[in-house]
Amino acid sequence: MKKKITLYLYPYIALLLVFVSTLPADAATLASGIPVSDSPIMALPVTQTCAGTPWKNIVWVHLHDNEETARQTALQALNQIQQGCLLDLRHGGSREIKVQNYQVSYQFDPNRIFTSMGRKTTLKCHQGSCAFALEQLGQAAANFLNQYLIHAQLIVAVHNNHLDGLSVRNYRAGGTMAPAMSQIAISSDSNPHDFFYVTTQQAFNFLASRNFNVVLQNNQQVHDDGSLSVWAAQQHIDYINVEAGIEHSAAQLAMLAAVWAYMQEYYI
Ligand SMILES: [Zn+2]
Repeated sequence: MKKKITLYLYPYIALLLVFVSTLPADAATLASGIPVSDSPIMALPVTQTCAGTPWKNIVWVHLHDNEETARQTALQALNQIQQGCLLDLRHGGSREIKVQNYQVSYQFDPNRIFTSMGRKTTLKCHQGSCAFALEQLGQAAANFLNQYLIHAQLIVAVHNNHLDGLSVRNYRAGGTMAPAMSQIAISSDSNPHDFFYVTTQQAFNFLASRNFNVVLQNNQQVHDDGSLSVWAAQQHIDYINVEAGIEHSAAQLAMLAAVWAYMQEYYI
């Protein structure tokens, strides 16, 4: 990596760090990745790692801090390309983000916060004003989207699943996720856990023709769970989720190489 920039949306981060350092140890450890504060402003813990010149119209994003294979393969792919940046949420290695304010403590799945309905469902409010928590989370999500994603033409998300968890099979007719799917391509050469989940016919056709597992989201009927794919479809932004089994590094790297070919064909 040529440079590594950590960006905080917090306007008064220095002041807050001084503030946190004066708290008793047990209070400070309640927070996971986000400073303890009584500010109405909360920022997602974004780290941006660049391998060269950032792309103006393309964003790569890693949202689940516990999906390390996805993070490492994305960084490796960017290193090979020698361009572009990865937006990465880092907050102690857990899937969910925990926030401790003086008014409220809560936690949420960072890939369920990009619509109002998603935030209401994902928010687990432990203490204090839950209305305040919902407001704070809404503001943080809006700031993140407006700063990094609203002007993107293509968003590439990287995720991992577990062997007893999600696979492309869930999206087949009759599967648990079938209502979210409008078209599906199954490759006999690929592991079912390694699949693309996309929002445009263009991406579906390109990736399916290269013999990958691909699911085209049904943008009209998909359940609004607040995930980035739902938001991207609402905004008419081309979105590709590169989803691979945990520790399927070689497969995920090959999938990212296909994404790079797609980027060169349509966006660069
Ligand atoms: Zn994930």
